[in-house]
Amino acid sequence: MIKQAQVVILGSGCAGLTAAIYTARANLSPVVLEGREAGGQLMWTTTVENFPGFPEGVLGPDLIDNMRKQAQKFGADTRFEHADSVDFSKRPFVIKTSEAEYHADSVIIATGATARTLGLHSEMHFMGSGVSTCATCDGAFYKDKVVAIVGGGDSAAEEATFLTRFAKKVYLIHRRDRLRASKIMADRLLANPKVIPVWNTGVEDVFGEEAPHRHVKGVRIKNLETGEVSELAVDGLFLAIGHKPNTEVFGDQLKKTEGGFLLTRSAMAWRGTATDPGWSESYSNYSTATSLEGIFACGDVVDTHYRQAITAAGTGCAAALDCEKWLESVHNDERIA
Ligand SMILES: Cc1cc2nc3c(=O)[nH]c(=O)nc-3n(C[C@H](O)[C@H](O)[C@H](O)COP(=O)(O)OP(=O)(O)OC[C@H]3O[C@@H](n4cnc5c(N)ncnc54)[C@H](O)[C@@H]3O)c2cc1C
Repeated sequence: MIKQAQVVILGSGCAGLTAAIYTARANLSPVVLEGREAGGQLMWTTTVENFPGFPEGVLGPDLIDNMRKQAQKFGADTRFEHADSVDFSKRPFVIKTSEAEYHADSVIIATGATARTLGLHSEMHFMGSGVSTCATCDGAFYKDKVVAIVGGGDSAAEEATFLTRFAKKVYLIHRRDRLRASKIMADRLLANPKVIPVWNTGVEDVFGEEAPHRHVKGVRIKNLETGEVSELAVDGLFLAIGHKPNTEVFGDQLKKTEGGFLLTRSAMAWRGTATDPGWSESYSNYSTATSLEGIFACGDVVDTHYRQAITAAGTGCAAALDCEKWLESVHNDERIA
């Protein structure tokens, strides 16, 4: 089956669904391919306390459900399909799923990123109930508690420092005997009396209890030099071992960073407006345009820095507005020609 669409949105996390709300309200009848993880990363969490508009917090899956309903209300066609292959070499762009072939005038990519995990069954069991991949999101739940963080790079150092604002003790578990983080960050972190480094060590298991609600009690760790196995009593485990963007399906059709995140063009380059490159006038130098005309990207798939639900939603809005403007200019050009 071939289906024509003005806009196909890949992904149904905060970015994709926000783009869907905006493009649907602009009468572009977007088709949203939700992918294998319908709802995206927020489906893994319980209470989201930092999304504006919810003073009591909101459950991640409820927030997503509401966004989807809001998009559907304005006419978004949301489908539980995954883009298996894409051909962006000419317009209309072709996207194939196991159910259909979509021919799209434009595409908004919101395929997100997946936090790297240790590969343990137990960490997935406790994900969102004591195991977290986002200290900024969940650190505040650990006031005066004991936590461990795994990782040794800049983001691990940054997240561990952040956790010391809440937790009374932060075990920093790293496979080597020193951090990969920049010296200034590593020095600052290790000087903090709340931080206890656990060098040359890997996490073998996470354990906890199911009642009265699922929660973590500790981690089993192994010293990689001596082979000694021991337990650390902790209330939470944070993973800070990197993120993998979901961009394999695009092959080399779009420009990416070395880590595989999609690159978007500066607005100066895309819109042809000239400002001093050293300064950004409001959002005048930000765009969601990728290296191919008519294809836009938003959310964690382009974000190596903020990775928050609200920033994903914000750039989802920006992608919808960029896409809408672009479609309008293409249609105007066609009318003139
Ligand atoms: C456990 C956890 C807790 C978190 N808590 C918070 C919090 O409290 N506050 C906060 O601000 N942030 C939180 N975050 C971060 C937040 O969830 C992310 O920043 C946000 O979800 C990113 O949204 P996104 O739409 O860019 O991508 P994602 O949420 O990653 O969604 C990506 C979407 O793309 C789809 N997809 C992937 N490949 C394809 C394909 N080939 N075809 C079609 N679709 C595809 C997936 O199915 C998915 O629907 C948390 C993250 C995690 C993991």
